[in-house]
Amino acid sequence: MVHAEQVRKQFGKLEVLKGIDLIVEPGQVCCLLGPSGSGKSTFLRCINHLEKVDGGRLTVDGDLVGYRQQGNRLHELREREVAQRRRDIGMVFQRFNLFPHLTALENVVEAPVRVGGVPKADAYEQAQRLLHQVGLGDRAGHYPAQLSGGQQQRVAIARALAMKPKLMLFDEPTSALDPELVGDVLDVMRRLAAEGMTMVVVTHEIGFAREVGDTAVFMDQGVVVEAGDPLQVLGEPEQERTRAFLSKVL
Ligand code: ATP
Ligand code: MG
Repeated sequence: MVHAEQVRKQFGKLEVLKGIDLIVEPGQVCCLLGPSGSGKSTFLRCINHLEKVDGGRLTVDGDLVGYRQQGNRLHELREREVAQRRRDIGMVFQRFNLFPHLTALENVVEAPVRVGGVPKADAYEQAQRLLHQVGLGDRAGHYPAQLSGGQQQRVAIARALAMKPKLMLFDEPTSALDPELVGDVLDVMRRLAAEGMTMVVVTHEIGFAREVGDTAVFMDQGVVVEAGDPLQVLGEPEQERTRAFLSKVL
């Protein structure tokens, strides 16, 4: 689903990704860890076609990020083509950026109706079902301000799922939450993984990564330091940098 080969990205002179290799197979959960500034969010943004890659090769579901291949020529994608590709990818951020003036249900309905062309009645029915799935069937009429952070984050997950994505990206989805609200959000993600969703999750929840992750990838300063079985990478890391990081977050 995600194939990264020597992916490079720089902002001006700052090299943020210095040759990332990473593969996420369909149905797998890949957990990405690393210190602040190591390039985790930038890499997720590349996967989501929000950033252009400066070097290497990144494909998502077979599509090259940023380009369309015709024969052996590469053409830069137009905005409309980028938008088209992004429809198949759901993203959930640290800050639950719901539309404040829409109810939970309306937040979930919005994209399928406006972007997906789904008939309203169908979209509402689906949204209600999704809210139920994330444990918020009884909160459909609430506005974001009337929901806890964890509830808002679960609405954000339902909203991303409403577009029937092939891939879900999570960027520290629980790190802005009060500790007692983290579990409910992780439970929803755990269930999603069990249903076979392909996921790339930036998280410092080591327990989640060990239990749910098929792979764990530790990044530092724009490179992959160590990757593989979460039990090994997070339990018996080979690299000193991984050990030092884990001793801080655990
Ligand atoms: P954190 O754990 O703090 O979220 P991160 O691993 O997600 O960190 P990134 O957000 O990917 O790190 O940032 C990596 C580096 O790239 C940082 O030094 C950051 O300042 C820089 N950076 C990110 N986006 C931009 C941008 N649009 N323009 C310039 N520099 C950027
Ligand atoms: Mg980040």
